[in-house]
Amino acid sequence: MRLSRYYVPTLKEDPADAEVMSHKLLMRAGMIRKLTSGIYNYLPMGLRSINKVAKIVREEMDRAGAMEVSMPMVQPADLWVESGRWDYYGKELLRVKDRHGRDYCLGPTHEEVITDLVRGEIGSYKQLPVNLYQIQNKFRDEIRPRFGLMRGREFIMKDAYSFDKDEEGAEKSYWEMFEAYKAAFSRIGLRFKPVQADSGAIGGDFSHEFMVLADTGEDTIASCKSCEFGANLEKAKVNAPEDSCNSDDSATPALEEVGTPDARTVDEVCAYLNIEPSKLIKTLLLKVDGKEPVLALIRGDRELNDIKLRNLVGGNEIEMADEDLVKDLTGAPVGFAGPVTLSKNIRTFADHELCLDNDWVTGANKADTHYRHVSLARDCEIDKFADLRVIEETDSCPECGKEIEFTKGIEVGHVFKLGTKYSEKMDATFLDENGKTKHMVMGCYGIGVSRIVASAIEQNHDENGCIFPPAIAPFEVAIISLAGKDQAVADKAEELYNEIAKLGVDVCYDDRKERPGVKFAEADLIGYPMQLVLGGKGLKNGIIETKDRKTGEKGELPLDNFVEAFTAWRKEIWEKWGMSL
Ligand code: ATP
Ligand code: MG
Repeated sequence: MRLSRYYVPTLKEDPADAEVMSHKLLMRAGMIRKLTSGIYNYLPMGLRSINKVAKIVREEMDRAGAMEVSMPMVQPADLWVESGRWDYYGKELLRVKDRHGRDYCLGPTHEEVITDLVRGEIGSYKQLPVNLYQIQNKFRDEIRPRFGLMRGREFIMKDAYSFDKDEEGAEKSYWEMFEAYKAAFSRIGLRFKPVQADSGAIGGDFSHEFMVLADTGEDTIASCKSCEFGANLEKAKVNAPEDSCNSDDSATPALEEVGTPDARTVDEVCAYLNIEPSKLIKTLLLKVDGKEPVLALIRGDRELNDIKLRNLVGGNEIEMADEDLVKDLTGAPVGFAGPVTLSKNIRTFADHELCLDNDWVTGANKADTHYRHVSLARDCEIDKFADLRVIEETDSCPECGKEIEFTKGIEVGHVFKLGTKYSEKMDATFLDENGKTKHMVMGCYGIGVSRIVASAIEQNHDENGCIFPPAIAPFEVAIISLAGKDQAVADKAEELYNEIAKLGVDVCYDDRKERPGVKFAEADLIGYPMQLVLGGKGLKNGIIETKDRKTGEKGELPLDNFVEAFTAWRKEIWEKWGMSL
Protein backbone atom coordinates (compact mmCIF):
# COMPACT_ATOMS: atom_id res chain seq x y z
CA MET A 1 0.00 0.00 0.00
CA ARG A 2 1.28 3.42 -0.99
CA LEU A 3 0.50 6.19 1.44
CA SER A 4 0.35 8.70 -1.42
CA ARG A 5 -2.85 6.97 -2.54
CA TYR A 6 -4.26 6.07 0.84
CA TYR A 7 -6.86 7.88 2.87
CA VAL A 8 -5.47 8.66 6.32
CA PRO A 9 -7.00 11.91 7.53
CA THR A 10 -4.79 12.54 10.56
CA LEU A 11 -5.60 15.37 12.95
CA LYS A 12 -3.21 17.72 14.73
CA GLU A 13 -5.43 18.25 17.77
CA ASP A 14 -7.27 15.95 20.13
CA PRO A 15 -11.01 16.06 19.50
CA ALA A 16 -12.80 17.98 22.24
CA ASP A 17 -15.09 15.11 23.26
CA ALA A 18 -12.34 12.49 23.59
CA GLU A 19 -11.54 11.61 27.21
CA VAL A 20 -9.36 8.53 26.91
CA MET A 21 -6.18 7.97 24.94
CA SER A 22 -7.55 5.33 22.59
CA HIS A 23 -10.38 7.62 21.52
CA LYS A 24 -8.03 10.56 20.98
CA LEU A 25 -5.51 8.48 19.07
CA LEU A 26 -8.02 6.61 16.91
CA MET A 27 -9.39 9.97 15.83
CA ARG A 28 -6.03 11.68 15.41
CA ALA A 29 -4.52 8.77 13.50
CA GLY A 30 -7.42 8.96 11.05
CA MET A 31 -8.78 5.51 11.91
CA ILE A 32 -12.35 6.37 12.89
CA ARG A 33 -14.81 9.20 12.46
CA LYS A 34 -17.89 9.87 14.53
CA LEU A 35 -21.22 9.88 12.73
CA THR A 36 -23.27 10.60 15.82
CA SER A 37 -23.12 9.74 19.52
CA GLY A 38 -21.66 6.22 19.92
CA ILE A 39 -21.77 5.50 16.19
CA TYR A 40 -18.59 5.56 14.12
CA ASN A 41 -17.30 5.17 10.60
CA TYR A 42 -14.30 2.88 10.44
CA LEU A 43 -11.75 4.39 8.07
CA PRO A 44 -9.22 2.32 6.11
CA MET A 45 -6.49 2.17 8.78
CA GLY A 46 -8.95 1.50 11.59
CA LEU A 47 -10.83 -1.14 9.65
CA ARG A 48 -7.61 -2.99 8.86
CA SER A 49 -6.91 -3.31 12.55
CA ILE A 50 -10.48 -4.39 13.33
CA ASN A 51 -10.34 -6.96 10.53
CA LYS A 52 -7.12 -8.40 11.91
CA VAL A 53 -8.71 -8.84 15.31
CA ALA A 54 -11.73 -10.46 13.65
CA LYS A 55 -9.49 -12.80 11.66
CA ILE A 56 -7.70 -14.07 14.76
CA VAL A 57 -10.98 -14.50 16.61
CA ARG A 58 -12.46 -16.34 13.63
CA GLU A 59 -9.48 -18.67 13.38
CA GLU A 60 -9.65 -19.55 17.07
CA MET A 61 -13.40 -20.11 16.93
CA ASP A 62 -13.00 -22.39 13.92
CA ARG A 63 -10.17 -24.24 15.61
CA ALA A 64 -12.44 -24.85 18.61
CA GLY A 65 -15.05 -26.37 16.32
CA ALA A 66 -17.51 -23.48 16.23
CA MET A 67 -19.17 -22.74 12.89
CA GLU A 68 -19.65 -19.31 11.43
CA VAL A 69 -23.13 -18.13 10.52
CA SER A 70 -24.61 -14.72 9.97
CA MET A 71 -27.88 -13.75 11.57
CA PRO A 72 -30.04 -10.74 10.75
CA MET A 73 -29.55 -7.58 12.72
CA VAL A 74 -33.27 -6.75 12.69
CA GLN A 75 -35.17 -9.10 14.98
CA PRO A 76 -38.92 -9.56 15.39
CA ALA A 77 -40.34 -8.62 18.79
CA ASP A 78 -42.27 -11.92 19.04
CA LEU A 79 -39.09 -13.82 19.82
CA TRP A 80 -38.21 -11.38 22.57
CA VAL A 81 -41.69 -11.63 24.00
CA GLU A 82 -41.29 -15.40 24.00
CA SER A 83 -38.02 -15.23 25.91
CA GLY A 84 -39.47 -12.68 28.31
CA ARG A 85 -36.88 -10.07 27.43
CA TRP A 86 -39.08 -7.65 25.46
CA ASP A 87 -40.11 -6.07 28.75
CA TYR A 88 -37.03 -6.91 30.75
CA TYR A 89 -34.28 -5.56 28.48
CA GLY A 90 -35.15 -1.91 28.93
CA LYS A 91 -34.01 1.07 26.94
CA GLU A 92 -30.77 -0.42 25.63
CA LEU A 93 -32.97 -2.28 23.16
CA LEU A 94 -33.67 -0.06 20.18
CA ARG A 95 -37.23 -0.83 19.10
CA VAL A 96 -38.59 -0.02 15.68
CA LYS A 97 -41.85 -0.60 13.84
CA ASP A 98 -42.26 -1.69 10.24
CA ARG A 99 -44.83 -0.26 7.82
CA HIS A 100 -47.47 -2.64 9.16
CA GLY A 101 -46.94 -1.45 12.69
CA ARG A 102 -45.22 -4.64 13.77
CA ASP A 103 -42.50 -4.40 16.41
CA TYR A 104 -38.85 -5.19 15.80
CA CYS A 105 -35.59 -4.43 17.51
CA LEU A 106 -31.99 -4.01 16.45
CA GLY A 107 -30.03 -6.95 17.81
CA PRO A 108 -28.00 -6.15 20.92
CA THR A 109 -27.27 -9.89 21.18
CA HIS A 110 -28.73 -12.98 19.49
CA GLU A 111 -29.88 -15.56 22.04
CA GLU A 112 -33.46 -15.36 20.79
CA VAL A 113 -32.64 -15.62 17.09
CA ILE A 114 -30.16 -18.45 17.51
CA THR A 115 -32.50 -20.42 19.77
CA ASP A 116 -35.26 -19.98 17.22
CA LEU A 117 -32.94 -21.10 14.43
CA VAL A 118 -31.67 -24.17 16.25
CA ARG A 119 -35.05 -25.32 17.56
CA GLY A 120 -36.32 -25.41 14.01
CA GLU A 121 -33.37 -27.41 12.70
CA ILE A 122 -32.11 -29.72 15.40
CA GLY A 123 -34.23 -32.47 16.86
CA SER A 124 -31.96 -35.31 17.84
CA TYR A 125 -29.14 -35.86 20.31
CA LYS A 126 -27.15 -37.11 17.31
CA GLN A 127 -26.97 -33.56 15.99
CA LEU A 128 -25.56 -32.18 19.24
CA PRO A 129 -23.39 -30.48 20.31
CA VAL A 130 -23.27 -27.50 17.98
CA ASN A 131 -21.59 -24.18 18.47
CA LEU A 132 -22.51 -21.36 16.08
CA TYR A 133 -20.91 -17.95 15.94
CA GLN A 134 -20.97 -14.74 13.97
CA ILE A 135 -19.00 -11.52 13.77
CA GLN A 136 -21.36 -8.67 13.27
CA ASN A 137 -22.53 -5.19 14.20
CA LYS A 138 -24.60 -4.99 17.34
CA PHE A 139 -26.72 -2.12 18.49
CA ARG A 140 -27.23 -1.19 22.13
CA ASP A 141 -28.70 2.16 22.99
CA GLU A 142 -26.17 2.64 25.79
CA ILE A 143 -27.12 5.24 28.36
CA ARG A 144 -23.63 6.74 28.25
CA PRO A 145 -21.88 5.97 25.00
CA ARG A 146 -18.32 7.20 25.41
CA PHE A 147 -14.64 6.61 24.97
CA GLY A 148 -14.91 6.09 21.23
CA LEU A 149 -14.86 2.42 20.28
CA MET A 150 -14.80 1.42 23.94
CA ARG A 151 -18.48 1.93 24.59
CA GLY A 152 -20.29 2.58 21.37
CA ARG A 153 -23.94 2.16 20.56
CA GLU A 154 -23.17 0.35 17.33
CA PHE A 155 -20.13 -1.90 17.68
CA ILE A 156 -18.69 -5.13 16.34
CA MET A 157 -19.07 -8.25 18.39
CA LYS A 158 -18.27 -11.89 17.94
CA ASP A 159 -21.06 -13.85 19.56
CA ALA A 160 -21.13 -17.62 19.80
CA TYR A 161 -23.80 -19.95 21.17
CA SER A 162 -23.34 -23.56 22.14
CA PHE A 163 -26.07 -26.20 22.37
CA ASP A 164 -25.48 -29.44 24.23
CA LYS A 165 -27.54 -32.39 25.25
CA ASP A 166 -26.60 -32.28 28.91
CA GLU A 167 -24.85 -30.32 31.65
CA GLU A 168 -21.63 -32.20 31.20
CA GLY A 169 -21.52 -31.39 27.50
CA ALA A 170 -22.36 -27.74 28.18
CA GLU A 171 -19.53 -27.50 30.66
CA LYS A 172 -17.13 -28.98 28.15
CA SER A 173 -18.27 -26.46 25.54
CA TYR A 174 -17.81 -23.69 28.09
CA TRP A 175 -14.21 -24.57 28.84
CA GLU A 176 -13.42 -25.05 25.16
CA MET A 177 -14.55 -21.48 24.54
CA PHE A 178 -12.61 -20.33 27.61
CA GLU A 179 -9.43 -21.81 26.12
CA ALA A 180 -10.20 -20.42 22.65
CA TYR A 181 -10.54 -16.96 24.19
CA LYS A 182 -7.20 -17.28 25.96
CA ALA A 183 -5.60 -18.31 22.68
CA ALA A 184 -7.20 -15.46 20.71
CA PHE A 185 -6.34 -12.72 23.21
CA SER A 186 -2.76 -13.98 23.49
CA ARG A 187 -2.36 -13.95 19.72
CA ILE A 188 -3.78 -10.44 19.52
CA GLY A 189 -1.11 -9.34 21.98
CA LEU A 190 -3.26 -8.18 24.89
CA ARG A 191 -2.25 -8.34 28.54
CA PHE A 192 -5.41 -9.82 29.98
CA LYS A 193 -6.84 -11.78 32.85
CA PRO A 194 -9.91 -14.00 32.96
CA VAL A 195 -11.89 -13.16 36.09
CA GLN A 196 -14.89 -14.74 37.73
CA ALA A 197 -18.11 -12.91 36.98
CA ASP A 198 -21.65 -13.15 38.22
CA SER A 199 -23.49 -16.05 36.65
CA GLY A 200 -26.85 -15.00 38.07
CA ALA A 201 -29.44 -17.68 38.43
CA ILE A 202 -27.24 -20.33 36.78
CA GLY A 203 -24.78 -20.25 39.66
CA GLY A 204 -21.52 -22.11 39.81
CA ASP A 205 -18.22 -21.20 38.26
CA PHE A 206 -19.57 -20.63 34.76
CA SER A 207 -19.20 -17.00 33.96
CA HIS A 208 -15.86 -15.40 33.25
CA GLU A 209 -15.02 -12.00 31.92
CA PHE A 210 -11.78 -11.46 30.07
CA MET A 211 -10.31 -8.22 31.27
CA VAL A 212 -7.64 -6.15 29.59
CA LEU A 213 -5.67 -4.52 32.36
CA ALA A 214 -5.66 -0.75 31.88
CA ASP A 215 -6.09 2.22 34.20
CA THR A 216 -8.88 3.65 32.08
CA GLY A 217 -10.99 0.51 32.45
CA GLU A 218 -14.54 1.00 33.66
CA ASP A 219 -14.51 -2.23 35.67
CA THR A 220 -12.67 -2.92 38.89
CA ILE A 221 -11.23 -6.34 39.48
CA ALA A 222 -10.01 -7.91 42.68
CA SER A 223 -6.97 -10.09 42.11
CA CYS A 224 -4.84 -12.06 44.49
CA LYS A 225 -1.19 -11.09 44.74
CA SER A 226 -0.26 -14.72 45.38
CA CYS A 227 -2.65 -17.09 43.65
CA GLU A 228 -4.57 -17.08 40.35
CA PHE A 229 -7.75 -15.66 41.87
CA GLY A 230 -9.35 -12.78 40.02
CA ALA A 231 -12.95 -11.62 40.11
CA ASN A 232 -15.15 -8.79 39.07
CA LEU A 233 -16.00 -6.76 42.20
CA GLU A 234 -19.65 -7.70 41.94
CA LYS A 235 -18.73 -11.37 42.04
CA ALA A 236 -15.75 -11.41 44.45
CA LYS A 237 -16.64 -13.47 47.45
CA VAL A 238 -15.86 -12.35 50.98
CA ASN A 239 -15.27 -15.31 53.22
CA ALA A 240 -17.28 -15.74 56.41
CA PRO A 241 -15.39 -14.96 59.62
CA GLU A 242 -16.76 -18.15 61.10
CA ASP A 243 -14.01 -18.89 63.59
CA SER A 244 -14.30 -15.60 65.39
CA CYS A 245 -18.08 -15.33 65.61
CA ASN A 246 -19.23 -14.22 69.03
CA SER A 247 -22.57 -15.70 69.89
CA ASP A 248 -22.49 -14.91 73.62
CA ASP A 249 -24.65 -11.83 74.16
CA SER A 250 -25.20 -12.36 77.88
CA ALA A 251 -23.21 -9.22 78.61
CA THR A 252 -25.11 -7.04 76.13
CA PRO A 253 -27.06 -4.40 78.07
CA ALA A 254 -30.78 -4.07 77.48
CA LEU A 255 -32.01 -2.22 74.40
CA GLU A 256 -31.84 1.50 74.85
CA GLU A 257 -33.61 4.14 72.74
CA VAL A 258 -31.52 7.22 72.07
CA GLY A 259 -32.63 10.43 70.45
CA THR A 260 -30.78 11.22 67.22
CA PRO A 261 -32.53 14.35 65.99
CA ASP A 262 -32.13 14.78 62.23
CA ALA A 263 -29.30 12.23 62.10
CA ARG A 264 -30.16 9.88 59.25
CA THR A 265 -27.00 8.91 57.44
CA VAL A 266 -24.35 6.65 58.92
CA ASP A 267 -21.99 9.60 59.27
CA GLU A 268 -24.58 11.81 60.93
CA VAL A 269 -25.61 9.14 63.44
CA CYS A 270 -22.02 8.22 64.23
CA ALA A 271 -21.03 11.85 64.70
CA TYR A 272 -24.00 12.43 66.96
CA LEU A 273 -23.41 9.35 69.09
CA ASN A 274 -19.64 9.63 68.83
CA ILE A 275 -19.13 6.06 67.60
CA GLU A 276 -17.26 4.47 64.70
CA PRO A 277 -19.33 3.45 61.62
CA SER A 278 -18.16 -0.11 62.22
CA LYS A 279 -20.26 -0.17 65.41
CA LEU A 280 -23.46 0.56 63.55
CA ILE A 281 -25.66 -1.65 61.40
CA LYS A 282 -26.99 -0.11 58.20
CA THR A 283 -30.52 -1.33 57.53
CA LEU A 284 -31.48 -1.32 53.87
CA LEU A 285 -35.09 -1.75 52.97
CA LEU A 286 -35.50 -3.10 49.44
CA LYS A 287 -38.24 -4.27 47.15
CA VAL A 288 -38.01 -7.48 45.12
CA ASP A 289 -39.67 -7.41 41.70
CA GLY A 290 -41.73 -4.43 42.75
CA LYS A 291 -43.51 -6.45 45.43
CA GLU A 292 -41.91 -8.16 48.39
CA PRO A 293 -39.96 -6.00 50.83
CA VAL A 294 -36.71 -7.43 52.25
CA LEU A 295 -34.22 -6.16 54.79
CA ALA A 296 -30.47 -6.27 54.22
CA LEU A 297 -28.16 -5.56 57.13
CA ILE A 298 -24.53 -4.59 56.71
CA ARG A 299 -21.94 -2.85 58.83
CA GLY A 300 -22.06 0.95 58.70
CA ASP A 301 -18.75 1.26 56.90
CA ARG A 302 -19.51 -1.37 54.23
CA GLU A 303 -21.23 -1.31 50.88
CA LEU A 304 -24.06 -3.63 49.93
CA ASN A 305 -23.40 -5.82 46.89
CA ASP A 306 -26.83 -5.93 45.29
CA ILE A 307 -25.95 -8.82 43.00
CA LYS A 308 -25.06 -10.99 45.97
CA LEU A 309 -28.31 -9.97 47.59
CA ARG A 310 -30.29 -10.68 44.43
CA ASN A 311 -28.74 -14.13 44.08
CA LEU A 312 -29.67 -14.83 47.68
CA VAL A 313 -33.18 -13.43 47.61
CA GLY A 314 -34.14 -14.62 44.13
CA GLY A 315 -36.23 -12.54 41.75
CA ASN A 316 -35.17 -10.40 38.86
CA GLU A 317 -34.94 -6.89 40.09
CA ILE A 318 -34.16 -5.42 43.44
CA GLU A 319 -34.63 -1.75 44.12
CA MET A 320 -34.47 0.47 47.15
CA ALA A 321 -37.85 0.95 48.80
CA ASP A 322 -39.31 4.37 48.15
CA GLU A 323 -40.18 6.87 50.85
CA ASP A 324 -43.81 5.81 51.09
CA LEU A 325 -42.99 2.16 51.56
CA VAL A 326 -40.39 3.00 54.21
CA LYS A 327 -42.93 5.07 56.11
CA ASP A 328 -45.52 2.38 55.70
CA LEU A 329 -43.38 -0.43 57.04
CA THR A 330 -41.30 1.32 59.68
CA GLY A 331 -43.72 4.00 60.73
CA ALA A 332 -40.82 6.45 60.50
CA PRO A 333 -39.28 8.69 57.88
CA VAL A 334 -36.32 7.48 55.82
CA GLY A 335 -33.13 7.18 57.86
CA PHE A 336 -34.40 5.46 60.99
CA ALA A 337 -35.18 1.90 59.85
CA GLY A 338 -33.82 -0.91 61.98
CA PRO A 339 -34.17 -4.69 62.28
CA VAL A 340 -35.65 -4.82 65.79
CA THR A 341 -39.28 -6.00 65.39
CA LEU A 342 -39.20 -5.21 61.63
CA SER A 343 -37.16 -8.36 60.95
CA LYS A 344 -39.94 -10.43 62.44
CA ASN A 345 -42.31 -9.50 59.61
CA ILE A 346 -39.94 -9.17 56.69
CA ARG A 347 -37.35 -11.54 55.22
CA THR A 348 -34.05 -10.34 56.67
CA PHE A 349 -30.54 -11.05 55.46
CA ALA A 350 -27.47 -10.05 57.45
CA ASP A 351 -23.92 -9.85 56.22
CA HIS A 352 -22.01 -12.66 57.84
CA GLU A 353 -19.47 -10.41 59.55
CA LEU A 354 -22.29 -9.07 61.74
CA CYS A 355 -21.86 -12.23 63.81
CA LEU A 356 -18.61 -10.78 65.11
CA ASP A 357 -20.34 -8.47 67.57
CA ASN A 358 -23.56 -8.43 69.53
CA ASP A 359 -23.83 -4.89 70.74
CA TRP A 360 -24.85 -2.68 67.81
CA VAL A 361 -26.45 0.66 67.07
CA THR A 362 -29.38 0.50 64.64
CA GLY A 363 -32.38 2.60 63.65
CA ALA A 364 -35.39 2.29 65.96
CA ASN A 365 -38.21 2.62 63.36
CA LYS A 366 -39.17 5.86 64.99
CA ALA A 367 -38.45 9.40 63.87
CA ASP A 368 -35.21 10.86 65.23
CA THR A 369 -34.45 7.72 67.22
CA HIS A 370 -31.88 4.89 67.23
CA TYR A 371 -31.29 1.89 69.46
CA ARG A 372 -28.10 1.12 71.31
CA HIS A 373 -27.16 -2.39 72.46
CA VAL A 374 -28.89 -4.33 69.73
CA SER A 375 -28.08 -8.05 69.71
CA LEU A 376 -29.16 -9.65 66.46
CA ALA A 377 -29.67 -12.96 68.22
CA ARG A 378 -31.74 -11.55 71.07
CA ASP A 379 -33.66 -8.74 69.41
CA CYS A 380 -34.12 -9.75 65.78
CA GLU A 381 -35.07 -12.63 63.55
CA ILE A 382 -32.44 -13.08 60.89
CA ASP A 383 -33.40 -15.42 58.07
CA LYS A 384 -29.84 -15.85 56.93
CA PHE A 385 -26.31 -14.68 57.57
CA ALA A 386 -24.53 -14.55 54.24
CA ASP A 387 -21.95 -12.79 52.12
CA LEU A 388 -23.66 -9.53 51.22
CA ARG A 389 -21.09 -6.83 50.91
CA VAL A 390 -18.69 -5.55 48.28
CA ILE A 391 -15.16 -6.84 48.82
CA GLU A 392 -12.57 -4.26 49.92
CA GLU A 393 -8.89 -4.09 49.14
CA THR A 394 -8.06 -4.81 52.79
CA ASP A 395 -9.99 -8.09 52.67
CA SER A 396 -8.06 -11.26 52.12
CA CYS A 397 -8.19 -13.51 49.08
CA PRO A 398 -11.32 -15.69 49.27
CA GLU A 399 -9.33 -18.58 47.82
CA CYS A 400 -5.95 -18.55 49.53
CA GLY A 401 -6.32 -15.97 52.31
CA LYS A 402 -3.40 -13.82 51.18
CA GLU A 403 -3.38 -10.14 50.16
CA ILE A 404 -5.47 -8.93 47.24
CA GLU A 405 -5.27 -5.82 45.09
CA PHE A 406 -7.73 -3.84 43.00
CA THR A 407 -6.96 -3.04 39.38
CA LYS A 408 -8.91 -1.48 36.57
CA GLY A 409 -9.93 -3.54 33.59
CA ILE A 410 -11.71 -3.33 30.25
CA GLU A 411 -14.04 -6.23 29.52
CA VAL A 412 -13.17 -7.57 26.08
CA GLY A 413 -14.85 -10.95 26.33
CA HIS A 414 -17.44 -12.83 28.31
CA VAL A 415 -18.16 -16.55 28.48
CA PHE A 416 -21.39 -17.58 30.11
CA LYS A 417 -23.26 -20.78 30.73
CA LEU A 418 -26.93 -20.15 30.05
CA GLY A 419 -28.21 -23.58 31.00
CA THR A 420 -31.80 -24.06 29.85
CA LYS A 421 -32.93 -20.47 30.44
CA TYR A 422 -33.73 -19.83 26.76
CA SER A 423 -34.39 -23.38 25.62
CA GLU A 424 -37.14 -23.72 28.24
CA LYS A 425 -38.74 -20.36 27.54
CA MET A 426 -38.56 -20.90 23.77
CA ASP A 427 -39.06 -24.64 23.79
CA ALA A 428 -35.84 -25.72 22.11
CA THR A 429 -35.90 -29.46 22.62
CA PHE A 430 -34.40 -32.65 21.20
CA LEU A 431 -34.95 -36.36 21.57
CA ASP A 432 -32.31 -38.08 23.68
CA GLU A 433 -30.93 -41.62 23.30
CA ASN A 434 -34.10 -43.01 24.91
CA GLY A 435 -36.50 -41.04 22.78
CA LYS A 436 -37.21 -38.65 25.63
CA THR A 437 -37.79 -34.94 24.96
CA LYS A 438 -35.22 -32.72 26.63
CA HIS A 439 -34.22 -29.07 26.65
CA MET A 440 -30.92 -28.14 25.07
CA VAL A 441 -28.30 -26.80 27.47
CA MET A 442 -26.84 -23.57 26.17
CA GLY A 443 -23.85 -21.31 26.57
CA CYS A 444 -23.13 -17.87 25.09
CA TYR A 445 -19.79 -16.29 24.41
CA GLY A 446 -19.08 -12.70 23.36
CA ILE A 447 -15.99 -10.82 22.25
CA GLY A 448 -15.90 -7.08 21.72
CA VAL A 449 -14.02 -6.95 18.43
CA SER A 450 -14.04 -3.17 17.96
CA ARG A 451 -13.49 -2.60 21.69
CA ILE A 452 -10.34 -4.72 21.48
CA VAL A 453 -8.70 -2.25 19.11
CA ALA A 454 -9.36 0.55 21.62
CA SER A 455 -8.14 -1.64 24.50
CA ALA A 456 -4.92 -2.50 22.71
CA ILE A 457 -4.24 1.22 22.30
CA GLU A 458 -5.05 1.89 25.97
CA GLN A 459 -2.41 -0.66 26.87
CA ASN A 460 0.12 0.42 24.27
CA HIS A 461 0.72 4.07 23.51
CA ASP A 462 3.02 6.95 24.35
CA GLU A 463 2.92 10.71 23.94
CA ASN A 464 3.57 10.33 20.21
CA GLY A 465 0.78 7.93 19.39
CA CYS A 466 -0.36 4.33 19.18
CA ILE A 467 2.02 1.40 19.57
CA PHE A 468 0.21 -1.46 17.89
CA PRO A 469 0.90 -5.08 18.75
CA PRO A 470 2.22 -6.46 15.43
CA ALA A 471 -0.63 -8.94 14.98
CA ILE A 472 -3.30 -6.24 14.82
CA ALA A 473 -1.42 -3.20 13.52
CA PRO A 474 -3.07 -1.66 10.44
CA PHE A 475 0.29 -2.35 8.79
CA GLU A 476 3.06 -4.23 10.44
CA VAL A 477 5.87 -2.32 8.73
CA ALA A 478 6.22 1.14 7.28
CA ILE A 479 8.92 2.04 4.79
CA ILE A 480 9.60 5.72 5.01
CA SER A 481 11.31 7.01 1.95
CA LEU A 482 13.34 10.20 2.32
CA ALA A 483 14.01 10.28 -1.41
CA GLY A 484 13.14 13.90 -2.06
CA LYS A 485 14.36 14.37 -5.61
CA ASP A 486 16.79 11.44 -5.39
CA GLN A 487 15.35 8.88 -7.82
CA ALA A 488 17.85 6.19 -6.78
CA VAL A 489 16.48 6.27 -3.23
CA ALA A 490 12.89 6.17 -4.49
CA ASP A 491 13.69 3.19 -6.70
CA LYS A 492 15.39 1.31 -3.89
CA ALA A 493 12.55 2.04 -1.44
CA GLU A 494 10.09 0.76 -4.02
CA GLU A 495 12.13 -2.39 -4.49
CA LEU A 496 12.28 -3.08 -0.74
CA TYR A 497 8.56 -2.44 -0.47
CA ASN A 498 7.90 -5.06 -3.12
CA GLU A 499 10.22 -7.55 -1.48
CA ILE A 500 8.51 -7.22 1.90
CA ALA A 501 5.07 -7.43 0.32
CA LYS A 502 6.16 -10.64 -1.44
CA LEU A 503 6.90 -12.14 1.97
CA GLY A 504 3.20 -11.74 2.75
CA VAL A 505 3.92 -9.07 5.35
CA ASP A 506 1.58 -6.06 5.56
CA VAL A 507 3.74 -3.17 4.54
CA CYS A 508 2.91 0.44 4.03
CA TYR A 509 5.12 2.57 1.81
CA ASP A 510 5.35 6.24 2.64
CA ASP A 511 6.15 7.55 -0.82
CA ARG A 512 4.60 10.97 -0.23
CA LYS A 513 6.35 14.19 -0.96
CA GLU A 514 6.21 15.30 2.66
CA ARG A 515 8.94 16.58 4.93
CA PRO A 516 10.76 13.81 6.86
CA GLY A 517 9.52 15.25 10.17
CA VAL A 518 5.91 14.93 9.07
CA LYS A 519 6.43 11.35 7.93
CA PHE A 520 8.15 10.33 11.17
CA ALA A 521 5.47 11.93 13.32
CA GLU A 522 2.69 10.24 11.37
CA ALA A 523 4.36 6.85 11.50
CA ASP A 524 4.66 7.22 15.27
CA LEU A 525 1.06 8.41 15.56
CA ILE A 526 -0.38 5.48 13.61
CA GLY A 527 1.92 3.16 15.49
CA TYR A 528 3.30 0.68 12.97
CA PRO A 529 5.41 -1.62 15.15
CA MET A 530 8.30 -1.56 12.65
CA GLN A 531 9.66 1.41 10.80
CA LEU A 532 12.26 1.32 8.02
CA VAL A 533 13.79 4.61 6.92
CA LEU A 534 15.72 4.95 3.67
CA GLY A 535 17.64 8.09 2.74
CA GLY A 536 20.45 9.06 0.40
CA LYS A 537 23.16 8.51 2.99
CA GLY A 538 21.89 5.07 3.90
CA LEU A 539 21.72 4.03 0.29
CA LYS A 540 25.31 5.14 -0.20
CA ASN A 541 26.39 3.13 2.84
CA GLY A 542 24.30 0.14 1.87
CA ILE A 543 21.98 0.25 4.89
CA ILE A 544 18.41 1.06 5.84
CA GLU A 545 17.60 2.41 9.29
CA THR A 546 15.17 0.58 11.58
CA LYS A 547 13.05 1.74 14.47
CA ASP A 548 11.21 -0.44 16.94
CA ARG A 549 8.12 1.63 17.76
CA LYS A 550 7.66 -0.07 21.15
CA THR A 551 11.12 0.53 22.58
CA GLY A 552 12.17 3.39 20.33
CA GLU A 553 15.35 1.40 19.66
CA LYS A 554 17.05 2.28 16.38
CA GLY A 555 19.31 0.10 14.29
CA GLU A 556 20.12 -0.72 10.70
CA LEU A 557 19.75 -3.56 8.23
CA PRO A 558 22.07 -4.23 5.29
CA LEU A 559 20.62 -3.66 1.82
CA ASP A 560 22.53 -6.71 0.62
CA ASN A 561 20.72 -9.76 1.84
CA PHE A 562 17.91 -7.49 2.94
CA VAL A 563 15.17 -10.11 3.04
CA GLU A 564 17.09 -12.36 5.37
CA ALA A 565 18.07 -9.51 7.69
CA PHE A 566 14.54 -8.13 7.68
CA THR A 567 13.03 -11.53 8.47
CA ALA A 568 15.35 -11.92 11.45
CA TRP A 569 14.55 -8.41 12.72
CA ARG A 570 10.84 -9.03 12.35
CA LYS A 571 11.12 -12.21 14.37
CA GLU A 572 12.96 -10.29 17.07
CA ILE A 573 10.23 -7.62 17.22
CA TRP A 574 7.49 -10.22 17.61
CA GLU A 575 9.47 -11.93 20.33
CA LYS A 576 9.78 -8.64 22.20
CA TRP A 577 5.98 -8.59 22.21
CA GLY A 578 6.07 -12.07 23.71
CA MET A 579 4.74 -13.60 20.51
CA SER A 580 6.08 -16.00 17.97
CA LEU A 581 5.48 -15.75 14.26
P1 ATP B 1 -20.32 -3.98 29.54
O1 ATP B 1 -20.44 -4.43 30.96
O2 ATP B 1 -18.99 -3.39 29.21
O3 ATP B 1 -21.48 -3.13 29.10
P2 ATP B 1 -21.65 -6.34 28.68
O4 ATP B 1 -21.57 -7.17 29.88
O5 ATP B 1 -22.89 -5.60 28.38
O6 ATP B 1 -20.41 -5.31 28.67
P3 ATP B 1 -21.73 -8.58 26.85
O7 ATP B 1 -23.20 -8.50 26.70
O8 ATP B 1 -21.14 -9.70 27.58
O9 ATP B 1 -21.18 -7.19 27.41
O10 ATP B 1 -21.09 -8.44 25.38
C1 ATP B 1 -19.94 -9.15 24.96
C2 ATP B 1 -18.78 -8.22 24.68
O11 ATP B 1 -19.14 -7.16 23.81
C3 ATP B 1 -18.26 -7.51 25.92
O12 ATP B 1 -17.36 -8.33 26.61
C4 ATP B 1 -17.59 -6.29 25.33
O13 ATP B 1 -16.25 -6.59 24.97
C5 ATP B 1 -18.38 -5.99 24.10
N1 ATP B 1 -19.29 -4.85 24.30
C6 ATP B 1 -20.40 -4.81 25.06
N2 ATP B 1 -20.99 -3.61 25.02
C7 ATP B 1 -20.21 -2.85 24.20
C8 ATP B 1 -20.29 -1.51 23.73
N3 ATP B 1 -21.27 -0.72 24.11
N4 ATP B 1 -19.31 -1.05 22.88
C9 ATP B 1 -18.31 -1.87 22.49
N5 ATP B 1 -18.18 -3.14 22.90
C10 ATP B 1 -19.11 -3.63 23.73
MG1 MG C 1 -23.40 -3.60 28.59
